[in-house]
Amino acid sequence: MRILVISDIHANLTAFEAVLQHSQGEWDFVWCLGDVVGYGPDPNECVERLKELPQLCLAGNHDWAALNRLDVSTFNPDARRAVEWTQATLTPANTRFLEALPVTFVIGDYTLVHASPREPIWEYILEESIAELNFPHFETPYCFVGHTHQPIIYSIAAADGKTQSSKPQYDEPRALNGKRQIINPGSIGQPRDQNPKAAYGILDTASGIFEHRRIPYNIKAVQRRMYDYQLPERLITRLEHGI
Ligand code: ZN
Repeated sequence: MRILVISDIHANLTAFEAVLQHSQGEWDFVWCLGDVVGYGPDPNECVERLKELPQLCLAGNHDWAALNRLDVSTFNPDARRAVEWTQATLTPANTRFLEALPVTFVIGDYTLVHASPREPIWEYILEESIAELNFPHFETPYCFVGHTHQPIIYSIAAADGKTQSSKPQYDEPRALNGKRQIINPGSIGQPRDQNPKAAYGILDTASGIFEHRRIPYNIKAVQRRMYDYQLPERLITRLEHGI
């Protein structure tokens, strides 16, 4: 089966539609690694678009924040304002969709979580040492994570058993080769690796081949809606910088 692997849409329908359009005809099913909402201007539209697709979606910290399951006093003031706006904007039906999302899911050779296998909602895997601590926390060969908004692959080196990271080579299909890996497809709606383009992945489970991708989308259109809804300035400008 061919899978569209996506994460961190963050209520950015323009970026989400761009990814769906760009990958059209290349997948049969969607794995969404959470944070469908939060930060962006289109929480209802993104949930509703996702619901139309054949998909499996995990819960992220921003989905939980929108459900009041988290103490948002730990969020920075801009993120908190966006959470409050999202809570007030989500329809009851879309809130129910978010409430039903699982925290982890294991399917075939793959474990799916939003953040990390040992802390599925919260932990940021931003370095090799953190990835290394997470390998014992899942049993399948491969684990897909989101949350950091940075596409990357962590694997275990054959020579010394140490965890190593490698940057994605975009548009280059890569055989997973049975070696244990933690793979982040990057963020659709709010990339944070100094590259403002939307990130996603395509996985073919039959051949075990994965491909990272990046595509441009109309950032200005999203920013205009965020201004209209008076969302925080910093959240609006960061989209064009990919930070
Ligand atoms: Zn996120």
